Amino acid sequence: MKKEYETVIGLEVHIELATKTKLFCGCSTAFGGAPNAHTCPVCTGMPGALPALNRQAVEYAVAVGLATNCRIAEFSQFDRKNYFYPDNPQNYQITQWHLPICKDGGIAVETPQGQKMVGIHQIHLEEDAGKLIHDEEEDCTLVDFNRSGVPLIEVVSEPDLRSAQEAVCWLEKLRMTARYLGASDCRMQEGSMRVDVNLSVRERGSTVLGVRTEMKNLNSFRALIHAVENERDRQIARLEEGRPVVMETRRWDEQRGCSYSMRSKEEARDYRYFPEPDLPPVIVSEEWIESIRRRQPELREAKMARYQSQFGLPAYDADILTLEKRLADLFEAAAALCGKPKKVSNWLMGETMRLLREKGRSAESLDFSPENLAKLIELQESGAVNAPVAKQIFERIFAEDADPEAYVREHHLKIIGDEETVRETALRVMEENPRPVEDYRQGKEKAAGFLVGQTMRAMGGKADPAAVNRVVRELLAGLREGKG
Ligand code: ADP
Ligand code: MG
Ligand code: ZN
Repeated sequence: MKKEYETVIGLEVHIELATKTKLFCGCSTAFGGAPNAHTCPVCTGMPGALPALNRQAVEYAVAVGLATNCRIAEFSQFDRKNYFYPDNPQNYQITQWHLPICKDGGIAVETPQGQKMVGIHQIHLEEDAGKLIHDEEEDCTLVDFNRSGVPLIEVVSEPDLRSAQEAVCWLEKLRMTARYLGASDCRMQEGSMRVDVNLSVRERGSTVLGVRTEMKNLNSFRALIHAVENERDRQIARLEEGRPVVMETRRWDEQRGCSYSMRSKEEARDYRYFPEPDLPPVIVSEEWIESIRRRQPELREAKMARYQSQFGLPAYDADILTLEKRLADLFEAAAALCGKPKKVSNWLMGETMRLLREKGRSAESLDFSPENLAKLIELQESGAVNAPVAKQIFERIFAEDADPEAYVREHHLKIIGDEETVRETALRVMEENPRPVEDYRQGKEKAAGFLVGQTMRAMGGKADPAAVNRVVRELLAGLREGKG
Protein backbone atom coordinates (compact mmCIF):
# COMPACT_ATOMS: atom_id res chain seq x y z
CA MET A 1 0.00 0.00 0.00
CA LYS A 2 1.27 3.46 -0.87
CA LYS A 3 2.22 5.53 2.15
CA GLU A 4 0.36 8.71 3.02
CA TYR A 5 2.46 11.80 3.70
CA GLU A 6 1.96 14.99 5.63
CA THR A 7 3.66 18.27 4.71
CA VAL A 8 5.28 20.30 7.51
CA ILE A 9 6.13 23.94 6.88
CA GLY A 10 7.82 26.65 8.93
CA LEU A 11 8.32 30.17 7.58
CA GLU A 12 11.02 32.77 8.10
CA VAL A 13 9.77 36.19 7.01
CA HIS A 14 11.91 39.28 6.64
CA ILE A 15 9.93 42.52 6.80
CA GLU A 16 11.47 45.91 6.09
CA LEU A 17 10.28 48.44 8.65
CA ALA A 18 8.80 51.74 7.52
CA THR A 19 11.16 53.96 9.53
CA LYS A 20 12.37 57.14 7.82
CA THR A 21 15.97 56.41 8.76
CA LYS A 22 18.14 53.32 9.07
CA LEU A 23 18.49 51.05 12.10
CA PHE A 24 21.80 52.39 13.41
CA CYS A 25 22.38 55.71 11.61
CA GLY A 26 20.46 58.73 10.31
CA CYS A 27 20.62 57.80 6.61
CA SER A 28 17.37 57.76 4.63
CA THR A 29 15.62 54.46 3.96
CA ALA A 30 13.87 55.81 0.83
CA PHE A 31 13.56 53.24 -1.95
CA GLY A 32 15.55 54.04 -5.09
CA GLY A 33 17.88 57.04 -5.12
CA ALA A 34 21.29 57.18 -6.79
CA PRO A 35 23.53 54.25 -5.74
CA ASN A 36 25.24 54.92 -2.41
CA ALA A 37 23.48 58.30 -2.00
CA HIS A 38 22.00 57.17 1.34
CA THR A 39 25.15 56.11 3.10
CA CYS A 40 27.49 57.24 5.87
CA PRO A 41 30.45 55.74 7.76
CA VAL A 42 28.11 53.62 9.93
CA CYS A 43 26.18 51.86 7.17
CA THR A 44 29.27 51.41 4.99
CA GLY A 45 31.11 49.73 7.84
CA MET A 46 33.95 52.21 8.32
CA PRO A 47 36.27 51.29 11.17
CA GLY A 48 35.47 53.17 14.34
CA ALA A 49 31.96 54.23 13.30
CA LEU A 50 29.48 53.69 16.13
CA PRO A 51 25.87 52.47 15.73
CA ALA A 52 22.99 54.12 17.63
CA LEU A 53 19.66 52.29 17.78
CA ASN A 54 16.56 53.73 16.03
CA ARG A 55 13.77 54.02 18.61
CA GLN A 56 10.98 53.84 16.01
CA ALA A 57 12.27 50.49 14.74
CA VAL A 58 11.95 49.09 18.26
CA GLU A 59 8.41 50.45 18.50
CA TYR A 60 7.38 48.83 15.21
CA ALA A 61 8.86 45.48 16.26
CA VAL A 62 6.99 45.65 19.57
CA ALA A 63 3.77 46.70 17.79
CA VAL A 64 3.94 43.68 15.45
CA GLY A 65 4.79 41.45 18.42
CA LEU A 66 1.79 42.69 20.41
CA ALA A 67 -0.54 42.26 17.45
CA THR A 68 0.64 38.67 16.93
CA ASN A 69 0.22 37.59 20.54
CA CYS A 70 3.93 37.56 21.38
CA ARG A 71 5.59 38.07 24.71
CA ILE A 72 7.70 41.24 24.57
CA ALA A 73 11.14 40.85 26.09
CA GLU A 74 11.92 43.65 28.51
CA PHE A 75 15.55 42.87 27.90
CA SER A 76 16.88 41.99 24.47
CA GLN A 77 20.23 42.27 22.84
CA PHE A 78 22.06 42.60 19.53
CA ASP A 79 24.66 40.10 18.37
CA ARG A 80 27.24 40.06 15.63
CA LYS A 81 26.74 37.39 13.00
CA ASN A 82 30.12 37.15 11.33
CA TYR A 83 30.51 36.33 7.67
CA PHE A 84 32.19 37.73 4.62
CA TYR A 85 30.16 38.79 1.64
CA PRO A 86 30.69 41.89 -0.50
CA ASP A 87 27.20 43.30 0.18
CA ASN A 88 28.03 43.34 3.89
CA PRO A 89 30.64 46.06 4.51
CA GLN A 90 31.25 45.31 8.19
CA ASN A 91 31.86 41.62 7.58
CA TYR A 92 29.21 40.98 10.20
CA GLN A 93 25.47 41.59 10.42
CA ILE A 94 24.04 43.13 13.58
CA THR A 95 21.06 40.94 14.50
CA GLN A 96 19.27 39.59 17.57
CA TRP A 97 20.14 35.95 17.91
CA HIS A 98 20.36 34.96 21.51
CA LEU A 99 17.79 37.32 23.05
CA PRO A 100 15.14 38.42 20.49
CA ILE A 101 12.68 41.21 21.23
CA CYS A 102 9.48 39.12 20.81
CA LYS A 103 8.82 35.47 21.60
CA ASP A 104 6.11 32.80 21.67
CA GLY A 105 3.29 34.33 19.69
CA GLY A 106 0.96 33.06 17.02
CA ILE A 107 -1.44 33.86 14.21
CA ALA A 108 -4.64 31.87 13.62
CA VAL A 109 -5.24 30.45 10.15
CA GLU A 110 -8.44 29.14 8.60
CA THR A 111 -8.35 25.46 7.69
CA PRO A 112 -11.08 23.17 6.34
CA GLN A 113 -11.34 21.91 9.95
CA GLY A 114 -11.76 25.42 11.38
CA GLN A 115 -9.34 27.93 12.92
CA LYS A 116 -5.90 26.78 14.00
CA MET A 117 -3.20 28.69 15.88
CA VAL A 118 0.17 28.68 14.12
CA GLY A 119 2.96 29.62 16.48
CA ILE A 120 5.55 32.36 16.14
CA HIS A 121 8.80 31.17 17.64
CA GLN A 122 10.29 34.63 17.74
CA ILE A 123 10.54 38.05 16.10
CA HIS A 124 13.93 39.70 16.07
CA LEU A 125 15.38 42.97 14.83
CA GLU A 126 18.28 43.11 12.40
CA GLU A 127 19.84 45.21 9.68
CA ASP A 128 19.53 44.61 5.95
CA ALA A 129 22.52 44.14 3.63
CA GLY A 130 23.46 46.16 0.54
CA LYS A 131 22.73 45.10 -3.03
CA LEU A 132 25.12 43.66 -5.57
CA ILE A 133 24.62 44.65 -9.19
CA HIS A 134 26.24 42.39 -11.75
CA ASP A 135 27.24 44.39 -14.79
CA GLU A 136 27.47 41.93 -17.68
CA GLU A 137 28.78 44.47 -20.16
CA GLU A 138 31.67 45.66 -18.06
CA ASP A 139 32.10 42.16 -16.61
CA CYS A 140 32.21 43.42 -13.06
CA THR A 141 30.08 43.59 -9.91
CA LEU A 142 29.07 46.87 -8.31
CA VAL A 143 27.69 47.40 -4.85
CA ASP A 144 24.97 49.79 -3.67
CA PHE A 145 24.83 50.32 0.11
CA ASN A 146 21.57 52.30 0.13
CA ARG A 147 19.79 49.27 1.61
CA SER A 148 22.62 48.48 4.00
CA GLY A 149 21.41 49.10 7.56
CA VAL A 150 17.71 49.37 6.71
CA PRO A 151 15.78 47.92 9.68
CA LEU A 152 14.19 44.49 9.34
CA ILE A 153 12.22 42.24 11.58
CA GLU A 154 12.51 38.54 11.01
CA VAL A 155 9.39 36.62 12.00
CA VAL A 156 10.12 32.92 12.57
CA SER A 157 7.14 30.59 12.68
CA GLU A 158 6.92 27.23 14.43
CA PRO A 159 6.69 24.26 12.03
CA ASP A 160 2.90 24.24 12.48
CA LEU A 161 1.75 24.81 8.91
CA ARG A 162 0.52 21.84 6.87
CA SER A 163 -0.15 23.16 3.36
CA ALA A 164 0.61 25.96 0.93
CA GLN A 165 -2.90 27.32 1.58
CA GLU A 166 -2.27 27.56 5.31
CA ALA A 167 1.09 29.21 4.67
CA VAL A 168 -0.50 31.83 2.41
CA CYS A 169 -3.32 32.48 4.89
CA TRP A 170 -0.78 32.97 7.70
CA LEU A 171 1.37 35.27 5.58
CA GLU A 172 -1.61 37.32 4.45
CA LYS A 173 -2.61 37.92 8.04
CA LEU A 174 0.94 38.83 9.02
CA ARG A 175 1.18 41.17 6.04
CA MET A 176 -2.17 42.79 6.80
CA THR A 177 -1.18 43.28 10.44
CA ALA A 178 2.11 44.97 9.57
CA ARG A 179 0.38 47.18 7.03
CA TYR A 180 -2.44 48.23 9.38
CA LEU A 181 0.17 49.07 12.01
CA GLY A 182 2.06 51.15 9.46
CA ALA A 183 5.13 49.07 10.36
CA SER A 184 5.81 48.08 6.74
CA ASP A 185 4.24 48.17 3.30
CA CYS A 186 5.14 44.47 2.89
CA ARG A 187 5.54 44.48 -0.88
CA MET A 188 6.87 41.11 -1.93
CA GLN A 189 7.76 42.29 -5.44
CA GLU A 190 9.83 45.19 -4.12
CA GLY A 191 11.46 43.01 -1.50
CA SER A 192 10.03 44.74 1.58
CA MET A 193 8.62 41.32 2.55
CA ARG A 194 10.80 38.26 1.85
CA VAL A 195 9.77 34.75 2.69
CA ASP A 196 11.89 31.62 3.17
CA VAL A 197 10.02 28.32 3.32
CA ASN A 198 11.27 25.43 5.45
CA LEU A 199 9.58 22.22 4.40
CA SER A 200 9.72 18.55 5.31
CA VAL A 201 7.39 15.61 4.82
CA ARG A 202 6.62 12.70 7.11
CA GLU A 203 4.34 9.71 7.15
CA ARG A 204 0.89 10.69 8.31
CA GLY A 205 0.50 9.89 11.99
CA SER A 206 4.19 10.32 12.77
CA THR A 207 5.08 12.80 15.49
CA VAL A 208 8.76 13.30 14.67
CA LEU A 209 9.82 15.90 12.14
CA GLY A 210 11.35 14.87 8.85
CA VAL A 211 14.54 16.31 7.38
CA ARG A 212 13.82 19.74 5.96
CA THR A 213 15.04 21.96 3.18
CA GLU A 214 14.92 25.73 3.10
CA MET A 215 13.68 27.47 -0.04
CA LYS A 216 14.64 31.04 -0.93
CA ASN A 217 13.72 33.57 -3.58
CA LEU A 218 9.94 33.42 -3.43
CA ASN A 219 8.68 36.79 -4.52
CA SER A 220 4.95 36.24 -4.74
CA PHE A 221 2.31 34.11 -3.06
CA ARG A 222 1.88 32.33 -6.38
CA ALA A 223 5.55 31.40 -6.46
CA LEU A 224 5.29 30.24 -2.86
CA ILE A 225 2.40 27.91 -3.65
CA HIS A 226 4.22 26.45 -6.65
CA ALA A 227 7.44 26.04 -4.67
CA VAL A 228 5.72 24.30 -1.76
CA GLU A 229 3.89 21.84 -3.98
CA ASN A 230 6.96 21.14 -6.07
CA GLU A 231 9.22 20.62 -3.06
CA ARG A 232 6.68 18.39 -1.31
CA ASP A 233 6.47 16.17 -4.42
CA ARG A 234 10.26 16.14 -4.81
CA GLN A 235 10.79 15.01 -1.21
CA ILE A 236 8.07 12.35 -1.36
CA ALA A 237 9.51 10.99 -4.61
CA ARG A 238 12.94 10.68 -2.98
CA LEU A 239 11.57 8.89 0.06
CA GLU A 240 9.55 6.53 -2.14
CA GLU A 241 12.77 5.66 -3.95
CA GLY A 242 14.41 4.96 -0.63
CA ARG A 243 16.72 7.98 -0.86
CA PRO A 244 16.93 10.34 2.12
CA VAL A 245 16.09 14.05 1.90
CA VAL A 246 19.25 16.13 2.23
CA MET A 247 19.17 19.16 4.52
CA GLU A 248 20.03 22.04 2.24
CA THR A 249 19.15 25.50 1.06
CA ARG A 250 17.46 25.59 -2.34
CA ARG A 251 16.60 28.40 -4.71
CA TRP A 252 13.23 28.52 -6.44
CA ASP A 253 13.12 29.39 -10.13
CA GLU A 254 9.53 30.48 -10.81
CA GLN A 255 10.07 30.74 -14.56
CA ARG A 256 11.29 27.16 -14.89
CA GLY A 257 8.99 25.90 -12.14
CA CYS A 258 11.72 24.04 -10.25
CA SER A 259 14.31 24.56 -7.53
CA TYR A 260 18.01 23.81 -7.34
CA SER A 261 20.43 23.36 -4.50
CA MET A 262 22.35 26.46 -3.30
CA ARG A 263 24.28 24.96 -0.43
CA SER A 264 23.97 21.94 1.82
CA LYS A 265 23.95 22.23 5.58
CA GLU A 266 27.23 20.35 5.76
CA GLU A 267 28.83 23.49 4.40
CA ALA A 268 26.76 25.51 6.89
CA ARG A 269 28.78 28.42 8.09
CA ASP A 270 29.76 28.98 11.67
CA TYR A 271 28.78 32.58 12.25
CA ARG A 272 30.70 32.97 15.50
CA TYR A 273 27.91 34.96 17.11
CA PHE A 274 28.85 37.17 20.01
CA PRO A 275 27.12 40.11 21.73
CA GLU A 276 27.54 43.38 19.81
CA PRO A 277 29.92 45.36 22.00
CA ASP A 278 29.01 48.78 20.56
CA LEU A 279 25.31 48.63 21.53
CA PRO A 280 23.81 48.51 25.00
CA PRO A 281 21.02 45.98 25.65
CA VAL A 282 17.56 47.02 24.51
CA ILE A 283 15.41 47.71 27.55
CA VAL A 284 11.68 47.93 26.83
CA SER A 285 9.95 48.89 30.05
CA GLU A 286 6.44 47.80 31.04
CA GLU A 287 5.33 51.46 30.61
CA TRP A 288 6.79 51.69 27.12
CA ILE A 289 5.04 48.46 26.08
CA GLU A 290 1.78 49.81 27.53
CA SER A 291 2.11 53.10 25.68
CA ILE A 292 2.66 51.22 22.41
CA ARG A 293 -0.32 48.98 23.19
CA ARG A 294 -2.52 52.03 23.80
CA ARG A 295 -1.52 53.51 20.44
CA GLN A 296 -2.24 50.32 18.45
CA PRO A 297 -4.78 51.09 15.72
CA GLU A 298 -7.82 48.90 15.28
CA LEU A 299 -6.73 45.88 13.23
CA ARG A 300 -8.51 44.20 10.36
CA GLU A 301 -10.39 41.49 12.21
CA ALA A 302 -11.75 43.89 14.80
CA LYS A 303 -12.81 46.25 12.03
CA MET A 304 -14.58 43.50 10.13
CA ALA A 305 -16.59 42.57 13.21
CA ARG A 306 -17.42 46.19 14.01
CA TYR A 307 -18.57 47.02 10.46
CA GLN A 308 -21.13 44.24 10.79
CA SER A 309 -22.31 45.05 14.31
CA GLN A 310 -22.13 48.85 14.27
CA PHE A 311 -23.10 49.58 10.66
CA GLY A 312 -25.12 46.45 9.93
CA LEU A 313 -23.02 45.69 6.85
CA PRO A 314 -23.00 42.20 5.34
CA ALA A 315 -19.87 40.14 6.05
CA TYR A 316 -19.11 40.34 2.34
CA ASP A 317 -18.87 44.15 2.46
CA ALA A 318 -16.85 44.16 5.67
CA ASP A 319 -14.37 41.73 4.14
CA ILE A 320 -13.74 43.84 1.05
CA LEU A 321 -13.72 47.25 2.77
CA THR A 322 -11.00 46.14 5.18
CA LEU A 323 -8.69 44.61 2.57
CA GLU A 324 -6.78 47.90 2.51
CA LYS A 325 -6.52 50.29 5.39
CA ARG A 326 -6.88 53.19 2.95
CA LEU A 327 -10.25 51.85 1.83
CA ALA A 328 -11.42 51.25 5.41
CA ASP A 329 -10.41 54.80 6.41
CA LEU A 330 -12.31 56.26 3.44
CA PHE A 331 -15.34 54.19 4.29
CA GLU A 332 -15.41 55.25 7.93
CA ALA A 333 -14.91 58.93 7.20
CA ALA A 334 -17.55 59.07 4.45
CA ALA A 335 -20.05 57.02 6.48
CA ALA A 336 -19.61 59.37 9.44
CA LEU A 337 -20.23 62.39 7.19
CA CYS A 338 -23.37 61.21 5.40
CA GLY A 339 -24.68 58.66 7.89
CA LYS A 340 -25.38 56.10 5.14
CA PRO A 341 -22.80 53.34 5.56
CA LYS A 342 -24.36 50.89 3.10
CA LYS A 343 -24.49 53.53 0.37
CA VAL A 344 -20.82 54.38 0.98
CA SER A 345 -19.97 50.69 0.94
CA ASN A 346 -21.74 50.24 -2.41
CA TRP A 347 -19.76 53.05 -4.04
CA LEU A 348 -16.48 51.68 -2.70
CA MET A 349 -17.13 48.03 -3.55
CA GLY A 350 -18.74 48.74 -6.91
CA GLU A 351 -17.56 51.74 -8.90
CA THR A 352 -14.35 52.31 -6.94
CA MET A 353 -13.18 48.73 -7.43
CA ARG A 354 -14.24 48.76 -11.07
CA LEU A 355 -12.28 51.96 -11.78
CA LEU A 356 -9.24 50.71 -9.86
CA ARG A 357 -9.23 47.52 -11.94
CA GLU A 358 -9.73 49.48 -15.14
CA LYS A 359 -6.79 51.79 -14.34
CA GLY A 360 -4.63 48.98 -12.99
CA ARG A 361 -4.30 50.74 -9.63
CA SER A 362 -4.39 49.41 -6.10
CA ALA A 363 -6.70 50.62 -3.34
CA GLU A 364 -3.66 52.00 -1.51
CA SER A 365 -3.44 54.74 -4.13
CA LEU A 366 -6.99 56.05 -3.61
CA ASP A 367 -6.79 59.79 -3.11
CA PHE A 368 -10.28 61.26 -3.30
CA SER A 369 -11.74 62.79 -0.18
CA PRO A 370 -14.51 61.23 1.90
CA GLU A 371 -16.25 64.65 1.88
CA ASN A 372 -16.88 64.51 -1.85
CA LEU A 373 -18.18 60.93 -1.78
CA ALA A 374 -20.49 61.86 1.11
CA LYS A 375 -21.75 64.92 -0.80
CA LEU A 376 -22.47 62.80 -3.86
CA ILE A 377 -24.50 60.36 -1.79
CA GLU A 378 -26.48 63.23 -0.32
CA LEU A 379 -27.14 64.70 -3.76
CA GLN A 380 -28.45 61.40 -5.00
CA GLU A 381 -30.50 60.71 -1.89
CA SER A 382 -32.16 64.13 -2.08
CA GLY A 383 -33.16 63.34 -5.64
CA ALA A 384 -31.06 66.16 -7.10
CA VAL A 385 -29.23 63.76 -9.44
CA ASN A 386 -30.21 60.37 -10.77
CA ALA A 387 -28.16 57.17 -10.85
CA PRO A 388 -26.47 57.52 -14.27
CA VAL A 389 -25.51 61.13 -13.55
CA ALA A 390 -24.22 60.14 -10.10
CA LYS A 391 -21.99 57.55 -11.77
CA GLN A 392 -20.68 60.18 -14.14
CA ILE A 393 -19.90 62.50 -11.22
CA PHE A 394 -18.24 59.72 -9.30
CA GLU A 395 -15.79 59.17 -12.13
CA ARG A 396 -14.70 62.81 -11.69
CA ILE A 397 -14.39 62.37 -7.93
CA PHE A 398 -12.30 59.24 -8.47
CA ALA A 399 -10.07 60.92 -11.04
CA GLU A 400 -9.59 64.39 -9.57
CA ASP A 401 -11.52 64.58 -6.31
CA ALA A 402 -14.10 66.83 -7.98
CA ASP A 403 -16.61 68.61 -5.73
CA PRO A 404 -19.93 67.07 -6.81
CA GLU A 405 -22.03 70.18 -6.06
CA ALA A 406 -19.78 72.43 -8.15
CA TYR A 407 -19.65 69.81 -10.89
CA VAL A 408 -23.44 69.54 -11.08
CA ARG A 409 -23.75 73.32 -11.25
CA GLU A 410 -21.10 73.74 -13.94
CA HIS A 411 -22.47 70.97 -16.12
CA HIS A 412 -26.18 71.68 -15.54
CA LEU A 413 -26.76 68.14 -14.35
CA LYS A 414 -29.44 68.82 -11.79
CA ILE A 415 -32.50 66.65 -12.19
CA ILE A 416 -35.39 68.26 -13.99
CA GLY A 417 -37.80 67.49 -11.26
CA ASP A 418 -40.90 69.52 -11.93
CA GLU A 419 -43.89 67.47 -12.94
CA GLU A 420 -44.97 69.92 -15.63
CA THR A 421 -41.76 69.61 -17.67
CA VAL A 422 -41.85 65.84 -17.46
CA ARG A 423 -45.49 65.86 -18.56
CA GLU A 424 -44.89 68.16 -21.50
CA THR A 425 -41.94 66.13 -22.70
CA ALA A 426 -43.81 62.83 -22.33
CA LEU A 427 -46.76 64.15 -24.32
CA ARG A 428 -44.47 65.35 -27.10
CA VAL A 429 -42.70 61.97 -27.19
CA MET A 430 -46.05 60.19 -27.42
CA GLU A 431 -47.10 62.42 -30.29
CA GLU A 432 -43.88 61.69 -32.13
CA ASN A 433 -44.24 57.94 -31.54
CA PRO A 434 -47.78 56.96 -32.49
CA ARG A 435 -46.82 53.31 -33.19
CA PRO A 436 -45.75 52.37 -29.66
CA VAL A 437 -48.70 54.28 -28.26
CA GLU A 438 -51.04 52.25 -30.44
CA ASP A 439 -49.16 49.04 -29.48
CA TYR A 440 -49.70 49.86 -25.84
CA ARG A 441 -53.40 50.38 -26.42
CA GLN A 442 -53.50 46.91 -28.00
CA GLY A 443 -52.18 45.53 -24.74
CA LYS A 444 -48.42 45.46 -25.39
CA GLU A 445 -47.11 46.48 -21.95
CA LYS A 446 -43.53 46.60 -23.26
CA ALA A 447 -44.30 49.65 -25.35
CA ALA A 448 -44.58 51.71 -22.15
CA GLY A 449 -40.94 51.00 -21.33
CA PHE A 450 -39.89 52.28 -24.74
CA LEU A 451 -41.78 55.53 -24.23
CA VAL A 452 -40.28 56.00 -20.74
CA GLY A 453 -36.80 55.54 -22.25
CA GLN A 454 -37.51 58.04 -25.05
CA THR A 455 -38.78 60.60 -22.56
CA MET A 456 -35.65 60.19 -20.39
CA ARG A 457 -33.56 60.69 -23.49
CA ALA A 458 -35.46 63.76 -24.55
CA MET A 459 -34.66 65.22 -21.13
CA GLY A 460 -30.95 64.61 -21.55
CA GLY A 461 -30.94 61.86 -18.93
CA LYS A 462 -31.46 64.43 -16.19
CA ALA A 463 -34.95 63.48 -15.11
CA ASP A 464 -35.87 61.34 -12.15
CA PRO A 465 -36.60 57.94 -13.73
CA ALA A 466 -39.29 57.15 -11.16
CA ALA A 467 -41.17 60.34 -11.96
CA VAL A 468 -40.92 59.78 -15.73
CA ASN A 469 -42.13 56.23 -15.33
CA ARG A 470 -45.10 57.32 -13.29
CA VAL A 471 -46.11 60.21 -15.58
CA VAL A 472 -45.83 58.17 -18.80
CA ARG A 473 -47.90 55.34 -17.35
CA GLU A 474 -50.53 57.75 -16.08
CA LEU A 475 -50.84 59.33 -19.53
CA LEU A 476 -51.04 55.93 -21.22
CA ALA A 477 -53.59 54.67 -18.73
CA GLY A 478 -55.66 57.79 -19.43
CA LEU A 479 -55.56 57.00 -23.16
CA ARG A 480 -56.72 53.40 -22.62
CA GLU A 481 -59.61 54.55 -20.47
CA GLY A 482 -60.51 57.35 -22.84
CA LYS A 483 -60.81 54.99 -25.81
CA GLY A 484 -61.88 51.92 -23.89
P1 ADP B 1 17.84 27.26 11.95
O1 ADP B 1 18.41 27.59 13.28
O2 ADP B 1 18.62 26.29 11.18
O3 ADP B 1 17.44 28.45 11.16
P2 ADP B 1 15.33 26.83 13.22
O4 ADP B 1 15.11 25.76 14.21
O5 ADP B 1 15.50 28.22 13.71
O6 ADP B 1 16.51 26.44 12.27
O7 ADP B 1 14.10 26.81 12.25
C1 ADP B 1 14.01 27.67 11.16
C2 ADP B 1 12.64 27.52 10.54
O8 ADP B 1 12.46 26.19 10.07
C3 ADP B 1 11.50 27.74 11.51
O9 ADP B 1 10.49 28.49 10.82
C4 ADP B 1 11.00 26.36 11.84
O10 ADP B 1 9.63 26.37 12.09
C5 ADP B 1 11.28 25.61 10.57
N1 ADP B 1 11.55 24.18 10.75
C6 ADP B 1 12.41 23.62 11.61
N2 ADP B 1 12.43 22.27 11.47
C7 ADP B 1 11.54 21.98 10.49
C8 ADP B 1 11.13 20.75 9.84
N3 ADP B 1 11.62 19.58 10.19
N4 ADP B 1 10.20 20.85 8.87
C9 ADP B 1 9.71 22.03 8.49
N5 ADP B 1 10.08 23.20 9.03
C10 ADP B 1 10.99 23.18 10.02
MG1 MG C 1 17.19 30.46 10.28
ZN1 ZN D 1 24.24 55.54 7.30
